[in-house]
Amino acid sequence: MKTISLKSVAAEVMACHLCPLAKERTKAVPGEGPRDAKIMVVGEAAGKEEDLSGKPFVGRAGRLLNSVLWSAGAERSDVFVTNIVKCRPPNNRQPTKKERDTCRDAYFYRQIRILKPNLVVLLGRTATKAILEVDSLKKSRGKVVSRRGMKYLCTYHPAAVLRNPSLRDILEGDLRRNLPG
Ligand code: URA
Repeated sequence: MKTISLKSVAAEVMACHLCPLAKERTKAVPGEGPRDAKIMVVGEAAGKEEDLSGKPFVGRAGRLLNSVLWSAGAERSDVFVTNIVKCRPPNNRQPTKKERDTCRDAYFYRQIRILKPNLVVLLGRTATKAILEVDSLKKSRGKVVSRRGMKYLCTYHPAAVLRNPSLRDILEGDLRRNLPG
């Protein structure tokens, strides 16, 4: 049987042409982190700096993510960080349902099956919608739920905290209460 590794999924992501976002991107952003990560963190889609560098969460939202992870007792370098959508939508618009579901089915679910993390943290509405199929973050935020044998926690996206700093304590609290030690 062929062994599928995170590296081979990443190579497919970088060569992907499954949706129109491929035409607009500089670099696709497969995600990064250790093979034995117990925690996976999932954002919406690559942004401007991610598109240029090929790495997830390297801009302002990424710096905030690192800081809240640290406050909750986790090191960014111990966590696998990725996005539901691996390319940057033009002008950072929200990914369409089709883009989101195509990328999730082709790459994200395979990444989880390889990593088998103890917890997957869904940051914001797009990631939550893609996995939990709920429209609003309000009802599910802060609780761990199981889907297809995997545990998910959904919470605020760091970009929402940048827009509304009063959400930071909630994001930190959600992580502190639920991240595996
Ligand atoms: N926002 C995201 O959702 N993902 C990134 O990688 C950067 C910003």
